[in-house]
Amino acid sequence: MIIDLRSDTVTKPSKGMLDAMQSAHVGDDVFREDPTVNQLEERLAKMFGKQKALFFPSGSMANQVAIKLHTNPGEQVICDKYAHIYNYEVGGVAFHSGASCKLIDGDRGMFTAEQVKASINPTDYYYSQASLVEVENTTNKGGGACWDFQEIENINKICKTNTLGFHLDGARLWNALVAKNETTLQYGGVFDTISVCLSKGLGCPVGSVLIGDEEIMKKSLSLRKLFGGNMRQVGYLAAAGLYALDHNIERLAEDHKRAKEIGEVLTKLSTIKKVEPIETNIVIFELNDDVDEAQFLSKLKEKNIHIIGMGSNKLRMVTHLDYTEQMHEKLLGELKSI
Ligand SMILES: *Cc1c(COP(=O)(O)O)cnc(C)c1O
Repeated sequence: MIIDLRSDTVTKPSKGMLDAMQSAHVGDDVFREDPTVNQLEERLAKMFGKQKALFFPSGSMANQVAIKLHTNPGEQVICDKYAHIYNYEVGGVAFHSGASCKLIDGDRGMFTAEQVKASINPTDYYYSQASLVEVENTTNKGGGACWDFQEIENINKICKTNTLGFHLDGARLWNALVAKNETTLQYGGVFDTISVCLSKGLGCPVGSVLIGDEEIMKKSLSLRKLFGGNMRQVGYLAAAGLYALDHNIERLAEDHKRAKEIGEVLTKLSTIKKVEPIETNIVIFELNDDVDEAQFLSKLKEKNIHIIGMGSNKLRMVTHLDYTEQMHEKLLGELKSI
């Protein structure tokens, strides 16, 4: 039994999901004739109270197209220093949109409306002008932390006053909704564009969706083509998405519970300096200075437990759909014996 907690992207489609994929009705999505893709897009748009949604092969592409929709070259995207769009999308903000990131020194990937206000450059001609604020919920590098929705509303007010776009990287928004008992409509009500991922907590093999109203999404289809993201009979993948929306959202609470239980065991280990607060399915912890990270990782590997290092003696575990109760019990036992 291999326990793979490197990411919630390691899941494989379940029997039910594969059946749904196999029986999907498909067509050429480049002609916008794939009924299953259309169904998934309509369903997600409606869930968020928006007019339009577009299926993407990856979350990075959905985010980068969103950034391009909101910005012109030379402009600025205000985001946290931990943001996925800044750290893990190959400098795409500069490459695709010719824009720069104004980084906020937030807390676990989250920041305040006051900090946004302070990050907007003056209008003097020699400054780069902000055109977009980007929020990530849950935060990836921040250890699956969930935003306070009130603060998001406060930031939205700043955006509206300053005519800034407001984009949500919701790769793990599903986890936040379940953990905080929030709704998709709440989020659709404040953000101009939202990207959600189907292949993380929801267990699909591929797929992200960008959601927004007609006006802002007008160029999304041609930008997806420009980015090389047009797909053909992709309803087989959209069917997995529809299945996941029906079956795999509420169960995220199990992943969260197991992550918290792992955290409780880690807190008691003498080899571990600190476990970051656990709100959803991500566990980030720091080893004591005298513990060698590579050695710690390979010791776990010998026991068929795979996790990843994040640098500076910090390690990460992510619980997911394919992490079973049996694996959980084994993991807790092995950790206690370290
Ligand atoms: C995974 C992830 C993405 C998108 O990643 P892809 O691998 O391109 O699908 C975007 N934002 C966050 C916060 C993520 O965790």
